[in-house]
Amino acid sequence: MSDAVNDNTVWDNSNIYTSLEDKKIEQDLESVVNKTNELEKISKEILPALEDLESKGSSLISTVQNFVVEEHALSIRLRTIATFARCITSTNAKDEKAVALLSRVSKLSTNLRKASTPVEIFIDRINETQLKELLNHEELKAWEFQFRYGREMSDFQLNNSEEQIIKGLSTDGLHAWGNLYNAISGKLVCEVDGEKLGLANASSLLRQNDREKRISAYHSIREAWTNHEESSAAILNAINGWRLENNSLRSKKRDLHYLDISCHQSHINRETLNSLMGTTFENRSVGQRALKAMAKGMKVEKLGPWDILAPAPMVAGEGKVYSLKESIDLISEAFSRLTPQMGDFAQMMYKNNWIDSKPTEFRSPGAYCTGFTNVREPRVFMTFDGSIGNVLTLAHEIGHAYHNWVMRDMPVVSTYYAMTTAETASIFGETLVRDYLFENCKTEKDKFEITWQDAESAAAMLCNIPARFEFEKQMVEKRKEANIPASELKTMMNDSWKLWYEDSLSEYDDMYWASKLHFSISSIGFYNYPYLFGYLFSLGIYAEKDNHGENFNELYTNILRDTGSMNAVDLIKKHLNKNIEEKAFWQGSLDIVEKAVSRFEGLV
Ligand SMILES: [Zn+2]
Repeated sequence: MSDAVNDNTVWDNSNIYTSLEDKKIEQDLESVVNKTNELEKISKEILPALEDLESKGSSLISTVQNFVVEEHALSIRLRTIATFARCITSTNAKDEKAVALLSRVSKLSTNLRKASTPVEIFIDRINETQLKELLNHEELKAWEFQFRYGREMSDFQLNNSEEQIIKGLSTDGLHAWGNLYNAISGKLVCEVDGEKLGLANASSLLRQNDREKRISAYHSIREAWTNHEESSAAILNAINGWRLENNSLRSKKRDLHYLDISCHQSHINRETLNSLMGTTFENRSVGQRALKAMAKGMKVEKLGPWDILAPAPMVAGEGKVYSLKESIDLISEAFSRLTPQMGDFAQMMYKNNWIDSKPTEFRSPGAYCTGFTNVREPRVFMTFDGSIGNVLTLAHEIGHAYHNWVMRDMPVVSTYYAMTTAETASIFGETLVRDYLFENCKTEKDKFEITWQDAESAAAMLCNIPARFEFEKQMVEKRKEANIPASELKTMMNDSWKLWYEDSLSEYDDMYWASKLHFSISSIGFYNYPYLFGYLFSLGIYAEKDNHGENFNELYTNILRDTGSMNAVDLIKKHLNKNIEEKAFWQGSLDIVEKAVSRFEGLV
């Protein structure tokens, strides 16, 4: 950690609850329990009608309308408590009280979801006339996209008791494996050059200048995970085995493919995913060129997996260390060029203590944006050390936060956007800052430092993210046949890196399946390609800047505001009149990446 950053902030969530001891938490939990019990009774009344919705459905419309409104309010309350607790565990994985609270909330959420099952089935199976009646309600109008979109998957719905059993078992089944991963990573100790570090601190060494240190950190992280390879492999096998079994149970009417689920969650279709991945594969040499140029810049023959997050090589003391306030000012300036509101928003995030950036001992690695839905306030978590890469991460997370912010006047249900468009907003934020930094470069050295970041992102998006996708696809396919031992996971990860990186690295990271937490997120599979989607999608939008002049901010805001009520294909047809199912759309963005990589090559 750099000593120069001494203005890190700790978030202030006291407007939500004063602390874990706040009596209001108990009161809120109690009211959730009571109201869930009431909803359970109502859902039992709805249950018999599911057998004959044609004749019995219409008489239940108003019951279901009230149910949806009540359930929505309860789920927001639960999410608020969960977010509050997760904010605490992120800064201290060992806070047992917060961990216990999360577990209680998870149980209550499961109960609520179980109680809602008959209503979900009702909404998926009623006819069009009944659906229109259901939507004819002040608060339910906004639900149209959600309802209709959910109905697209109604072929895969099971009956009420089957659905309830799956939901009930998933808390201590599926999701317990994800929790185990978090528990292991939160307490993992990495020994770097004799010093014992938590995973977050060890990982942050991979982003700093000293190559020897990076190599040590890489090997120590690898070793720490290797010590847990048995458990890590068990986690991946259990999560994916569960998902496959779930899919096969649901494949009564037609086959439910794991990528169809992912595409549905991502608000895209398989054509879009195929075009995205296919075009990227054709352009993978652009990512590889970026790595080769970075190696030249680092004066080494080839980069290793310990170098892929490294900052631009600098002589000691040469690289600028940003304070948090300086970063905010810079981000704010860059955002203001799109619109002053976006710049002011970045300042507000800082002033309101909505950012937690101060290193702590048992801190989660990575960065994320979350928010309190009840008050429509975003929060950002990261570990800030003052590097330029860190400034971009901050811009990324504030980009997410801004997405929520421009939607804060909309009904909550209209803000349920998918990860693909979420990552579009965040990477758009990064792009604004990158552009601003490049234009304000005073020296060649500055330019080198900024374009280094461009090259690094290109390599991450065009090689690393697709390798993760490839690995996950292979793993799911293999898991259909049998349990996959750690040794085989290593081989599969190696092969996936080989396919995408080819000769651009000196070796591949075969423990990446354990160290990359995304594979062990129990609630969602194929967590990774949305980043690539967001990266190319946001470049595509950004490229429209000059065509729209003064109206560009309005266009961008309108796109963001529609993300929760449209799929991405329709969204971009509506606002940009372009078809993301076609390769040409993605090639356009990849051409922009190629230019950025060429610019970097020129500077090297
Ligand atoms: Zn993001």
